[in-house]
Amino acid sequence: MTVTRFAPSPTGYIHVGNLRTALFNFLIARKSGGQFILRLDDTDPERSREEYADAIKRDLEWLGLTWDRLERQSERLDRYAEAADRLRDAGRFYEAFETPGELDLKRKKQLNMGRPPVYDRAALALSEADMDRLRAERGEGHWRFKLLHERIEWTDGILGDISIDAASVSDPVLIRGDGLVLYTLASVVDDMEMGITHVVRGSDHVTNTATQIQIIEALGGTPPAFAHHSLLTGPQGEALSKRLGTLSLRDLRARGVEPMALLSLLARIGSSDPVELRGSVEELVEGFELSHFTSAPTKFDENDLFPLTARHVAALPFEAVAGRIAELGVPAELAPRFWEVARENITVLDDLEGWWRLCRDGAEPLVEPEDRDFVAEAMALLPAPPYGEASWADWTEAVKQQTGRKGKALYMPLRKAVTGMSRGPEMAQLMPLLQRVRARG
Ligand code: GLU
Repeated sequence: MTVTRFAPSPTGYIHVGNLRTALFNFLIARKSGGQFILRLDDTDPERSREEYADAIKRDLEWLGLTWDRLERQSERLDRYAEAADRLRDAGRFYEAFETPGELDLKRKKQLNMGRPPVYDRAALALSEADMDRLRAERGEGHWRFKLLHERIEWTDGILGDISIDAASVSDPVLIRGDGLVLYTLASVVDDMEMGITHVVRGSDHVTNTATQIQIIEALGGTPPAFAHHSLLTGPQGEALSKRLGTLSLRDLRARGVEPMALLSLLARIGSSDPVELRGSVEELVEGFELSHFTSAPTKFDENDLFPLTARHVAALPFEAVAGRIAELGVPAELAPRFWEVARENITVLDDLEGWWRLCRDGAEPLVEPEDRDFVAEAMALLPAPPYGEASWADWTEAVKQQTGRKGKALYMPLRKAVTGMSRGPEMAQLMPLLQRVRARG
């Protein structure tokens, strides 16, 4: 059975970049009838917050990305300690005592000499006496996994065949001096014990994957299938990282973006398949193929979310919006017509408010100087509300008779005077909703 996971750290709100990872893992699981696990990578008690954990769950629920199981790394610390013991017993784990400053200096020296900044394994040469002294001086050391210096290879679900020379990678630190279990160890132990079969994550994790494969093998496990998706950039190819704060799911939601618009876009951009607005999460599963995604950075333009949102919204049945429309104060007998008139003329549902205000209070008239007399004459012929089905036809016919204007020269100035806009709904449909026409004076 296919088992995937989305493993955010609850140290912030999730954004479009994280969502892409979540969505891919979700779709892979759903496509094969497997399981999708939400795993909170919360081993760091200082940075992890319950409020973020709750927000992540709420965001996923809003999107309809349901998980079959919730796991928290903070509840599994004993499992990681046990794995660390096994690595120690296998001679693959060693204690090192360099301070961050010392490591930084080593890296700079290596870079100056034109060498890759790979940890030099100086700690492996320490005697027991050295270690006792360092421990007395500096406290507990941090623990590094000893990589086997051979090539690490896998066939990536998106990148294809990958081969990384382990000697070009530093032995990863798995446990900090203060005992904190770091992501790499916790993630590997969870992936093994939770039976994860497929891991999809961003291409910034490729090197992690190489080291994780060796750790899994050292612990006697079989690595899952890995795939690394490209990272999102802005529309001009610029790094998105600085702007991710404004592209959090909660912000997009507050701006009226609809879940299916967001999911439809993110499930296809960066692939050879076209973006199509889908009606449900189930429909997204159809045609989702990881192998169709490119390794090149993927351009993401938040503006693309709004036409998709508008189309999603326009297709909603009245029942789906009735509550919202009632909240605006639209009288029940007008509500279905109000929706029919407004649905094609809004981008986000919040735009309904403006349309209701226009119906209730009238719009600031838009009158071109050359139409002033014409509009005044026409308004004198417009009876007071309420209006009915035939009001627009009756009124414009009367104006036509009196002024001799016809076609666009007749209709456009009247539309602008009544609605304050040159475009919008069918006037005949709109008239029965108008409680006031300000241009009448
Ligand atoms: N918590 C890690 C992150 O958010 C998970 C990476 C992974 O999928 O293994 O980057």
